[in-house]
Amino acid sequence: MNFQVSEAGTRLQQRSRRLAADFATRAATHDQEASHPLENYAALRREGFYSLNVPPEMGGEGVGLLNYSLAAEELAQGCPATALSFNMHLSIIGPLFESPIVPPDTKQRLADLVVKEQRLIAGNFSEPRTSGLLATYQPATRARQVAGGYQITGRKAFASMLEAADFCAVLAHPEEVDKPGAALLLMVPRRAPGRRVDEIWDTLGMRATRSDSLILEDCFVSQDAVLYQTDDILPFIRSGANWLWASYTAVYLGVAAAAYNAVRELVQERVPRGYTQPMAYHPDVRRRVADMSVDLEAARLLTYHSAWLSDTQGPTSETVAALFRAKYLVGEAGARITRTALTLGGAHALFKTVPLERLFRDGAVGPVQFPPSDYCLSSVGTLELGLDPSEIVPPLK
Ligand SMILES: Cc1cc2nc3c(=O)[nH]c(=O)nc-3n(C[C@H](O)[C@H](O)[C@H](O)COP(=O)(O)OP(=O)(O)OC[C@H]3O[C@@H](n4cnc5c(N)ncnc54)[C@H](O)[C@@H]3O)c2cc1C
Repeated sequence: MNFQVSEAGTRLQQRSRRLAADFATRAATHDQEASHPLENYAALRREGFYSLNVPPEMGGEGVGLLNYSLAAEELAQGCPATALSFNMHLSIIGPLFESPIVPPDTKQRLADLVVKEQRLIAGNFSEPRTSGLLATYQPATRARQVAGGYQITGRKAFASMLEAADFCAVLAHPEEVDKPGAALLLMVPRRAPGRRVDEIWDTLGMRATRSDSLILEDCFVSQDAVLYQTDDILPFIRSGANWLWASYTAVYLGVAAAAYNAVRELVQERVPRGYTQPMAYHPDVRRRVADMSVDLEAARLLTYHSAWLSDTQGPTSETVAALFRAKYLVGEAGARITRTALTLGGAHALFKTVPLERLFRDGAVGPVQFPPSDYCLSSVGTLELGLDPSEIVPPLK
């Protein structure tokens, strides 16, 4: 293990910390209302975050996964939902810029949209029946070639920040191609004809992501909406796993860090009646804090190290196993930390006005956020044992 945080990484971390302090002033309201944190997306735009992972030769900052993880961890401490939703933008554009198969003119078009026009892009691969249990990505949504472009029909699901983003990159199956893995990634503008939103997002946690359903009924997009076309989407997903999947890990690390910091402050301040020392002096409290600290630091190190491996080695088996390991630990440790923080906060922490209550709910989403904990373990086991995925018996008939 030989990674170091660069000066550029530290500067980005500080920029993110300043933004997070502002986000924190609105996090509770957006959570309660399950409303889009539009001011936060505007602030991220002003601070140049939309082009963080666009290559420098195309006008971006060319930030890799390690430096971005430092940023996401900070942003999430201010408003987890903002950090998670905004991540959709970077997670979609990252693999497109990094893929050698995406034509240079498509990359330039995307760079113009993101860098020059400062457009925000949501990403929607999921559908109501999408499951990590199926190792393939076969969208039921169909794209039919028509004069001048495509008509898309289908129901997408869990589309974060849909009404805040200028475009949503949607995965669809090209109707004329008779290959199950064939897919098209198409940019659907917010005002495209035949596009509407089913506002169903009323959830336990990550409420302000507003991950609603996107309904497309003969929705027309022009030919230049095509970002990527392939007969088999799986290699694209595998090689882009650093952004498509692993970039969410640091968001949940930030949720855990926020709960940890909040509860440390709380037990140092709260002096129970009849005592002169704050609760922090109680040995059980100390032990619980120590337990959280071990979990948090282990999760942080796995996240940074896996991101560094990804930046330096690309999508090798070692990197992919490390990314899954980190997501697993962050999801599980984050849920434990936010729960312990709530317990230490006691009944005082159960109020909607107390951040620990919200962080507990957001932390509970970590283990199910894609890739879910069970998926991570199953993948790490396969990689560590050197098993051939095609030889593994499907878990369901
Ligand atoms: C807050 C939030 C925002 C989201 N935003 C977006 C978005 O903007 N765009 C988008 O496309 N999607 C988004 N998603 C959707 C996300 O990627 C979903 O997880 C996905 O659609 C799969 O749904 P699922 O988790 O219910 O199902 P599943 O993948 O079936 O997972 C359910 C459970 O099945 C088990 N499982 C799944 N796979 C495996 C496996 N391989 N091995 C063993 N067990 C397994 C696990 O126990 C898992 O927790 C978002 C999700 C959340 C929570």
